[in-house]
Amino acid sequence: MRKIAVYCEKENNVLSETSYELISKALELKKSAKELTTENNDFLIEAIVLSNSIDANDVQKAYQAGCDRFVLVKDNNLDIFIQTVFLEAFMDYFYQNPSEIIIFPATPKGRILAPRITTKLHTGLVADCTNLEFILKDNELKLAPTRPTFGAELMATILSKSFPQCATIRPKVFKAKFDNQTKGDFIEHILKYSYDEARLKILSSINEKTGISDYSDAKIILSAGYGLASDKSSYDKLKKISEITGAKFGATRKVVDLGYVGKEYQIGQTGAYTEADVYIAFGISGAIQHIAGMKNCKKIISINSDTDAEIFKYSDYKIVADANEIINQIYSKLTS
Ligand SMILES: Cc1cc2nc3c(=O)[nH]c(=O)nc-3n(C[C@H](O)[C@H](O)[C@H](O)COP(=O)(O)OP(=O)(O)OC[C@H]3O[C@@H](n4cnc5c(N)ncnc54)[C@H](O)[C@@H]3O)c2cc1C
Repeated sequence: MRKIAVYCEKENNVLSETSYELISKALELKKSAKELTTENNDFLIEAIVLSNSIDANDVQKAYQAGCDRFVLVKDNNLDIFIQTVFLEAFMDYFYQNPSEIIIFPATPKGRILAPRITTKLHTGLVADCTNLEFILKDNELKLAPTRPTFGAELMATILSKSFPQCATIRPKVFKAKFDNQTKGDFIEHILKYSYDEARLKILSSINEKTGISDYSDAKIILSAGYGLASDKSSYDKLKKISEITGAKFGATRKVVDLGYVGKEYQIGQTGAYTEADVYIAFGISGAIQHIAGMKNCKKIISINSDTDAEIFKYSDYKIVADANEIINQIYSKLTS
């Protein structure tokens, strides 16, 4: 049977949400293989976790997300992330149990580990993908990951010539779904050697926030662009309007880079991803890198002084107006 391996991470002692997102995506791939071809199309989905322990609830949730086999690569030295130790542990399992596809999370640790693993395996890695599909090429099923390229001006679908085919995926790009079977295999792979030789030792660790707000549950987002810069008080006013109305405040990278708002508010390819019910863009041009983070919002409303602004192509409602004026009017109504 063919196999898709999903590298899963623990976060604060439980399996990370991204792990379930990737497992659910692997299940979609498995199903699409059956639609694309009638031969040799059965894939086993294997979730691989490197840790000293795993909670039974996490394993159960992984099965429900689509995992057929849960592998715990187990060692006491795997309670804290040390790249050399994790690399060796993954390879110890993978050399004995190879698969033709490996999906990694594009988290800080995933980004450290994935290229090291693919270097060991002499294979390629498509990093920071925004989509994963199977396609039929020369009658063979091939993984077709898509990612932004050329300063994120274009989307490229990249087919790997080497095996295994590997990709990293950013958190929250896919949705975790828990409607699958409730049973699967469980394998404990115990390492047979010691890591006393590890050249890097962690003396202490601090859990810091990544700095990017979580927009996954946002209903309404009021997002600020450089178009407001002629009246900089608009940034604070829009933030205040968000607070009063219970909306979330967002922004483009340009205003973040200029220091008008904090990095935690950045939405887009290098910021947060959102599928909010309503996204209101104030003075935002619609650069592809910004669009990548918000194009799947259910209703997009844009206010721009330029009738030809690119963002209008993605908008359900287009308002050609001075966004500062609109913000001023709303602000005075809400605060008077
Ligand atoms: C590798 C890479 C990654 C990137 N990642 C991101 C990312 O994650 N998120 C992101 O946002 N950007 C990202 N960018 C930057 C992106 O390319 C754009 O530069 C940025 O999104 C533009 O921000 P903006 O729309 O606020 O500004 P501008 O492009 O300058 O647009 C301002 C808009 O405001 C309009 N306007 C002017 N005055 C008014 C007014 N009074 N009322 C109404 N409208 C007005 C103008 O017509 C214009 O359309 C990235 C770039 C690169 C190269």
